Amino acid sequence: MAKRGPLTQKDFSSDQDVRWCPGCGDYSILANIQRVMPDLGVPRENFVFVSGIGCSSRFPYYMNTYGFHTIHGRAPAFATGIKCADPELSVWVVTGDGDGLSIGGNHLLHTIRRNVDLQILLFNNRVYGLTKGQYSPTSRVGMRTKSTPDGSIDHPVDPIAFALGSGATFVARTVDVDAQHLQEMLRRAYAHRGTAFIEILQNCPVYNDDEWIEVEDRKQRVEASLKLQDGKPLIYGPPGDVRGIRIETPAYAFALASLRRTKFPIPIGVFRAVEKPTYEALLSGQVAAARAKHGEGNLETLLDSGDTWTVEA
Ligand code: SF4
Ligand code: MG
Repeated sequence: MAKRGPLTQKDFSSDQDVRWCPGCGDYSILANIQRVMPDLGVPRENFVFVSGIGCSSRFPYYMNTYGFHTIHGRAPAFATGIKCADPELSVWVVTGDGDGLSIGGNHLLHTIRRNVDLQILLFNNRVYGLTKGQYSPTSRVGMRTKSTPDGSIDHPVDPIAFALGSGATFVARTVDVDAQHLQEMLRRAYAHRGTAFIEILQNCPVYNDDEWIEVEDRKQRVEASLKLQDGKPLIYGPPGDVRGIRIETPAYAFALASLRRTKFPIPIGVFRAVEKPTYEALLSGQVAAARAKHGEGNLETLLDSGDTWTVEA
C-alpha cells in the first residue's frame, strides 16, 4: 500500500463506484476530505475510516485507506478500539444524524466524554436518507415525512449542544459545499489531540432538499451565517451593513449553539477547543504501570486464578 513520493487527492480515491444520489452533499464532503488527506503528512496506511449505517456510512468504500463499515450507531466503539490498539493510527469516524444521534447517541456520548483522539464527522441532513425519508433526531418540529405525515412533534437534538454537553474538547460546524471552510475545519480537527467533533451541514436533495440553503448558497450565506474566528468579533452581514452579536454568559459556546434562524445567523466554525489528556494515553499509561508492577500477564493464569469454582453435574 505504501507509495513513493508525495501523495495526492487521487491517491485517496478508491476504485469503487460512488453510489450516492446525484447532487448529494456527500460528494463535496468526500472530495474535500480526499483533498486534505495528503497535506496531513500521515502515511496512507495509517488512516482508518470507520462508519456505522446510513448514506454517509458508505464513506469507507470510497476512501483508498483502511476502513470499516460497521453496525448501526457503533462506529465510535469500533474507532475507540482501533485507536487504543494502535495510537499511531489517524482514526476518522463518519456518521449521520440518524446513526450518530439516535441508535448511536449513547456510544457517541461516551466516546466524546472519554476524549479518545478521533475525528468524528457527523453529516447532518436532518433526515433518514438510506431508509427513504423518515424524520431523524435533528428534524425540525413540524417537518412532514413518511413517518410524520402530520408534522414532527419531537424537539430536535442540536449536535453542537450535544457534543458540548458531553464534554467534547473540540467542537466545530461547517457546510458541505463551503470547500475552503470545510477543509480548514478538517485540518483543525486533525491537529487537535482528543475527540474532535465536526457537524457538517449536508444537503439531501432527495428527501430534504435545501434544508441548509441559507448557508450553502453563497449570496444568502453572507446574511445567514456567522463565521466564528478565534479572537475576532462575532460579525455578519454584507459590507456596509455589518452587524455584531454580543453574548454575555459564561456558557459562551452553548449560547452560540442556541442561535437559530431566522432571528440569528447560523454560527459556522470552532465553538470550543481545549486540551485534556486523551483516553488512549491514559489507558496505555495504566497498562504500562501494571506491567512494571506485576510483570507480563498470562490470560490463562488470570482466568484460573482467584474466585473460581467447578460446577458439578
Ligand atoms: Fe444523499 Fe439523500 Fe441520496 Fe442519501 S438519500 S445519498 S443523503 S441525496
Ligand atoms: Mg441523516
